Amino acid sequence: MFFHLILTTKCDLKCKYCYEKSCEDIDSDFGDFEIDYSVPSRISYDLETLEAFLSKDTEPSLIFYGGEPMLCIEDIKRIMDRIKAKSFVVQTNGLHLKKLEPEYLNKFDTIFVSIDGDENLTDFYRGKGVYRKVVENVNFVRKIGFRGEIVARMTVMEQTDIYNQVLWLLNNPDCSFSSVHWQIDAGFWKTDFEKRPFAKWVEESYNVGIRRLVRFWVEHMEKYGRVLRIYPFLGVVESLLKGEPSLLRCGSGWANYSIQTDGHIIPCPIMGGMKDFYLGHIENSHPLRLKKVFVGFPCTTCEIRYECGGRCLYANLTKRWSSEAYALVCKTVKNMIDCLKAVVPRIKQLIYEGKISFSDFNYTKYNGCEVIP
Ligand code: SF4
Ligand code: SF4
Repeated sequence: MFFHLILTTKCDLKCKYCYEKSCEDIDSDFGDFEIDYSVPSRISYDLETLEAFLSKDTEPSLIFYGGEPMLCIEDIKRIMDRIKAKSFVVQTNGLHLKKLEPEYLNKFDTIFVSIDGDENLTDFYRGKGVYRKVVENVNFVRKIGFRGEIVARMTVMEQTDIYNQVLWLLNNPDCSFSSVHWQIDAGFWKTDFEKRPFAKWVEESYNVGIRRLVRFWVEHMEKYGRVLRIYPFLGVVESLLKGEPSLLRCGSGWANYSIQTDGHIIPCPIMGGMKDFYLGHIENSHPLRLKKVFVGFPCTTCEIRYECGGRCLYANLTKRWSSEAYALVCKTVKNMIDCLKAVVPRIKQLIYEGKISFSDFNYTKYNGCEVIP
């Protein structure tokens, strides 16, 4: 089982789509959901309890998460020293990687680094100078011989030209990422939709860019025999090739759970303090017998639910955006899936000819990557 360990609720950046929006959204209510605002900012359980909980799972995988988890480097080291895990993953803003000794960095299977594209765009969203610091840290991780996967993890919104920014991250001259993933800033906040030109951007920029990017991805396979690791495409195409339906692809609530700082277990890392979704506590729960939480309407009746999987449990349950607004997000999913379905025959032909292989589409599931943007 995969577990996000939320090490802290604090972060040292003030990104536009996270910190800024949380300030704007501060007075909005969560409807009937009961929120516990007293969850501590750092872990308050002892590692003995965590170890005892995880020891009931023979193959736990741990994803360090925050806030910014690398503000708690000593906790990361203590946990890595003590817990026997199948794999360790971190989702980080990338500013502190250099502070962790190589022996620990090299224990990570995957490092998700937040970066939104080129220097101008990343610094616009995340703050001046952030891009250069992240690049310096990623280069350091490569220099010490890290062999795992480094995923450039973008958040995208109206200033993002998805085609150019994904391509730029894949080919950028400053540092080398193994893969690129992104998530659209949509459905997380209550009050942002009406202030944003979201519909226009989706129609005129994002959906057009995705169509171009899928064409580029397949042409690249045809020309060079190489499958670029663009996560949303890999995940969907792997399922289409296998003919397998998918549940929620991030795994939240059924293959991936989160342990908040006080030891309560929640379905998804951003559902901290949502008491209605507390699924137990590490003191008295079994990691393999946790209640499963699945997406509800409208995903349950959606024509592409088995290809999409439901996109986001948090957005589905909390319904922060109106159904009309969220329908625009679903249109982006449908657009991407339609484009990918259209190129599957060409991909099958390339596999048949031996130019690429089925295994080129493999990826580690439920390690914190949402897959559907
Ligand atoms: S496209 Fe929208 S409604 Fe359909 S499964 Fe995905 S998130 Fe749910
Ligand atoms: S996609 Fe949604 S449910 Fe899944 S981890 Fe992200 S916020 Fe949570």
